[in-house]
Formats: sequence, C-alpha cells, structure tokens
Amino acid sequence: MSKLALLGGKAAIDFPEGDMFKWPIVNQEMEAAVLEVLRDGNMSGTDITGKFAAEFAAWNGTKYALAHSSGTAALQAAMFAVKLGPGDELICPSLTYWASAVPALSLGAAVVFADIDPDTLCLSVESFEKHITPRTKAVVVVHYASYPADMDRIMAVAKKHHIKVIEDVSHAQGGYYKGRMLGTFGDVAAFSLMSGKSFAIGEGGMLLTDNQEIYERAILWGHYERHSEVSEAVKGEAGGLPWGGYKYRMHQMSSTVGRIQLKKYSAEIAEIDQAMKRFWSQLRDIPGLRWCYPEDSGSSKAGWYASCAFYDKDKFQGLSLNRFFAAVRAEGVPCHTGINRPLHRHPLFTSWDIYGHGKPTALVNLPDGTDLAALTGELPHTDRAHSRVFHEPWFKHYREKEIDRYAEGVRKVAENYEELLPGDTQTEETTSGWALTRRRS
Ligand SMILES: *Cc1c(COP(=O)(O)O)cnc(C)c1O
Repeated sequence: MSKLALLGGKAAIDFPEGDMFKWPIVNQEMEAAVLEVLRDGNMSGTDITGKFAAEFAAWNGTKYALAHSSGTAALQAAMFAVKLGPGDELICPSLTYWASAVPALSLGAAVVFADIDPDTLCLSVESFEKHITPRTKAVVVVHYASYPADMDRIMAVAKKHHIKVIEDVSHAQGGYYKGRMLGTFGDVAAFSLMSGKSFAIGEGGMLLTDNQEIYERAILWGHYERHSEVSEAVKGEAGGLPWGGYKYRMHQMSSTVGRIQLKKYSAEIAEIDQAMKRFWSQLRDIPGLRWCYPEDSGSSKAGWYASCAFYDKDKFQGLSLNRFFAAVRAEGVPCHTGINRPLHRHPLFTSWDIYGHGKPTALVNLPDGTDLAALTGELPHTDRAHSRVFHEPWFKHYREKEIDRYAEGVRKVAENYEELLPGDTQTEETTSGWALTRRRS
C-alpha cells in the first residue's frame, strides 16, 4: 500500500482549510462603506477617490497619486506620461502579466523583451543593459511575484543611459527594497489593485510619482474631469478632452474599500509574512526545494502575492515538477505550478498586424529592416521558468499548528518521491497561461 495520497494512500491534510486562504478579508466597515456609496448614488464621483489617492501617496511617501480604473490603465498612463511614443522602444521582462508591456503598442512604441534573473524572477540587470539601443525610452520593472527587483543596479543603468523607469508594483504593494518602499525608486509607478492581488479592492489601479509633469500628463491622458488642476505649461490649449481618448477614473465602490483596506493592510501582510516564513522554516532542509526570499536586510515580499519557490528535479532523480506537485496537492496542500507564459513568444509581439499597417504592429515606427527577433534574442531563464517554479500555499493567517501540518504534507512527498517515479510521464507544464491569477473553479 502506497503512502502517498496520489497513489491511494491517506492524505496528510485531514482538516478543512476554513478561511486560511480566503482573500481579501472583508470586514463590516467595508460592507457598510460600499452600501453608502451605492445608496448615495456616488459611484462615479471623485471625492472619496481623491481621499484614497492622497492616503495612498502618504503611505508610500510620494508627492502624487492618481487613482485609475485598473492597473492596466495606470500602466498605460505611466507610459504616456514619460513620453513613450512612436519610434521609441520600451524594455520589459518577458515574464510578467501582459499589461506591463502591451499598452506600449497603442502608443506607437515597440517592446523589446529582456530576460529575468533566475534567482529572483525579476528583470536581469545584465539583460536590461544588453537590450538598450539609442531608441530605448523607458523600462518597466516588475517586482515579480512579490519579489523586489534589484533597484540599486537597475536605477544606475537607467541613469547612465537616460532611460525612464516605470515600476510595476502590481505584485508587491507595501513591499520594501533595502528599507525603502517599492514604487518610490523609478520616475513613476503603477499598481494593480484588482481583487486577486495583495492590495485587493475590486477593479482599480494607482499611479504614483514625485514628478509634477508626469502626474499632470497622466491626468491629461485619462481624467478629463480634472484638467482644471493641470498647469498651463503642460496642457497648453488642449485641456478639457482626454488626450488618450480614455476615461480612467476609479469607481468609488472600489476607492471606499481601498481607504479601509489601507488601515488594516500593514497588519494583514505582517501576519502573512510571519505565516509564510514559518512554513518555509520547516522545509529549508529539503534538498531540491528552495524558497525565493530577499535575505538582505530591509527587503520584503510584502503580501507574498503569487509567491514563487524553486524545484530542482535533479535532486529527485529527474521527477517532473508537475508530478511532484500533483502529489503535494493530493495530500491537501495547495502548491500550484504554472506561471505567466513568456510574452516574447506571443504573435502580438512577433507577427500580428493589429491596426492594419500591412506589417507587424510591433515593427511599426521602427526603422525599416529592423529584425524584431534579433532585438529580443534568446531569453533562456524566461523560457525555463515554468519547469522549475512553483507557488507555495498563500497563508493568510498565522496558525502554527495548521501551517506545520501543511509543511508536513510537502515533506511527506519529498521523503517518498521514489514512489512517483514509475508513473512520471514528464509532461511539461500545461496550466501556465497569460494571466497569473487562477480562475475560481
Ligand atoms: C494584475 C497586473 C497588472 C494589471 O492590473 P489590472 O488591475 O488587472 O488591470 C499589471 N501588471 C502586473 C504585473 C499584474 O500582475
């Protein structure tokens, strides 16, 4: 009789998960606030949103915050605000959610993808520098899966080459890099606040900056109702209509939830941090499993959104990642595989003609004869990530006994993995998609 649940044994987790993984944590104050907005007919106003943005800026310590209808909207506005446009190239890691890159195409710019650092899954500084050309205008730095990117070195390279830095903080709200909050390093930062993320308020996004011109250009782009706040020097004669033709204001049922979330968020992510560290403290001696955590002092993984860890199949006689974690899940431990598919392989960035230019959109506005595939080149760490990365269970509460039981479930598979070798078909990861958040089944 096998020990492992996948092969018919008894599962390690024999208690209900309860609210251990439930997110976000909704309290009565949030429920009442949403009802109030609804009953007041104040969904499309800007009074609550304005307060939320001001509080968000104060939390992060920046001069300006502009609330958006989504993180995607905030990213596109950030790209426009740093003057990314026709003829320009944007460097972006290929391992990210599409909104870090795709909006550049609607601005007439091209995207050049860079590789990731295999130990952090964030932008590789070497690859970033290698992809710079005279046309590089900006870089998007993603703090991927809540890991803080190497901002000291990235900012040094960007400064040397006069490149604007857009931080995508959608995975890491409230995180730190060497004692300083993520989103405060670059020229501008964009955050997704949609309901799957750590800072979850429904659909919503936030743009942060210390730069007045960037802030005002973002208002001009998608917030026509606030053009009166923009200086004449920046808006010229063109106030009153949104420059992008977009309307990006945040829904007030979201911003009212955001104001309350802000009050309790720091305590919630501190508890998550404690829980995740407890889990890993039980597993660190297992060869072949390695956590992905910034050990240097003053850095953090904030809410541990979609947090990743590494699996080394060579330590398990070649047992595939999929088979190992199918067995872990069968024990009742929610360790999922599957991360964002590499964007540089999608037709939108290789061949597709979105606007009918008669040539690939990715090439429009670049010099004739540009070889797009050569611009991006090989990104080996990005291509390999799906076969070595898994997601730990995302604990929302610090409950020692339960966390330890989940860790024991993983250990049980690691100790009995040889039972899994015979049935291993070595199938490659199939659950990866263009989005990272899993659908509710
Ligand atoms: C979720 C996400 C976005 C987009 O945010 P939305 O609020 O869903 O529009 C952008 N970048 C990254 C890295 C994301 O994960």
